[in-house]
Amino acid sequence: MHSRPTLNEARSKIVATVGPACNSVEMLIRLVQAGVDVFRINAAHGTQTDFALILEKIRQVREKTGFPVAVLLDLSGPKIRLGQLHTDPLDVEPGRELVFVRGETPHGPDELTSNYEKLVDEVKVGDRIMLADGTISLEVIQRSADRFRCRVLTGGTIRSRQGINLPGVSLSVTAMRPEDVSNAIWAANNEIDFVSLSFVRSPQDVCTLKDILRSLDCPALVIAKIEKREALESLEAIVDAADGVMVARGDLGVEIDVAETPIAQKRIIAVCREKLKPVIVATQMLESMHENSRPTRAEASDVANAILDGADACMLSGETAIGKYPVQAVDTMDRIMRVTEQLLKDQPPAPLPKEVKRVHPITSAVTYNSSNIAQAIGAKLVVVASRSGGTAWVKSKQRNYIPTLGVSDNPATLRRMCLFWGIMPHYMAAFHSPRELIENVVQWGRDHQVLSPGDRIVVVAGTGVVDKTHNTVIVHEVQPS
Ligand code: PGA
Ligand code: MN
Repeated sequence: MHSRPTLNEARSKIVATVGPACNSVEMLIRLVQAGVDVFRINAAHGTQTDFALILEKIRQVREKTGFPVAVLLDLSGPKIRLGQLHTDPLDVEPGRELVFVRGETPHGPDELTSNYEKLVDEVKVGDRIMLADGTISLEVIQRSADRFRCRVLTGGTIRSRQGINLPGVSLSVTAMRPEDVSNAIWAANNEIDFVSLSFVRSPQDVCTLKDILRSLDCPALVIAKIEKREALESLEAIVDAADGVMVARGDLGVEIDVAETPIAQKRIIAVCREKLKPVIVATQMLESMHENSRPTRAEASDVANAILDGADACMLSGETAIGKYPVQAVDTMDRIMRVTEQLLKDQPPAPLPKEVKRVHPITSAVTYNSSNIAQAIGAKLVVVASRSGGTAWVKSKQRNYIPTLGVSDNPATLRRMCLFWGIMPHYMAAFHSPRELIENVVQWGRDHQVLSPGDRIVVVAGTGVVDKTHNTVIVHEVQPS
């Protein structure tokens, strides 16, 4: 069986959404072998019983592949949806009038309801309402105490429970609904590695989720999904508050002009690089692979450009969840990444930022300079021993092409590394000296035909191996056996 990590797999990470197209242990194993680092469970679909079933399969995948694939639970947050339609589906032509009413029961085909009770109170005449992923647009033309009337500007097919986007309309809806809170608690009790929150508008929204997780002693990293104009307006503060970020281009491309999304993506990634936060680019990356075994040229460029912008990871949604070619989609993404990363080969490691919050200043200085040494001597591998993953995290944001083996005896730390660009998680039982660490890595490298005599490795450790600070860089040359 093809085992991971391998030194020639992509440095960039792949997040793949689980769904009916890949919902068996065998398929999930094939996806991991093709390059998936993190599985995403979309909480918008299914119940906690369903999530538990998926998680159980992922545990088996970890056992069978030996790879500590991570799990991200994606919370819906204040996503507003249509209620049940009277006539489902409903085709609407431009000029037709529709009425949003309170409650859950429409009294005719022209009446619409939503899952947000205060929608009727908070929209104004002139507001735009977008349905069906932005393909249908309505304008609010009249309102009264318990209903408002809209005119269809662009027609199409409306379906029950479709998402509703209100670009530029600020709503008083809470950051987390009761089901999000319940799902966050479930995540904390089930060793979920990353929890993302949709439709974040402010740093407080991120803190609401963090507070719930921390109160349950859950170390999961919180990912803020940027998909509202309001989030772009407080971007720096949101990135500061979050542990990581997702460029959620699906909703973002409806909430703001789609023409603005490429620049928004570049800005979000740049802020994350500056603040050392992992960033995932999501949605429609290989969209045409729902139906085809090969991507369009534009999609191949999209993945490559996200990597060149500085993304840590790219995400697949429907491509792996419901598409016809889930394994090919992952394999294609992995190949595009590997070829694109060749351009980073001769680039100097990013300089040490002024302030690094995650780790001790000695650790960050030593870690950063280990990359320079590795580059200068043409090292095959950098090895970082990490208890909480903080050192691997900081190392990752340098985007040094030479692969880094992130070594830990803690399974949660190894899974967390799955989102860190260039870090390959590697389990090793607790060791007591840098010598033991080196011997173990060299043995692994020989066994997997990735290290041969004469190869150099750079090891970042502490005099106490994984004490509070990493204060030692050791250069080792593999000897003939
Ligand atoms: P979603 O988020 O798939 O949960 O909507 C991603 C996006 O909006 O791009
Ligand atoms: Mn979204």
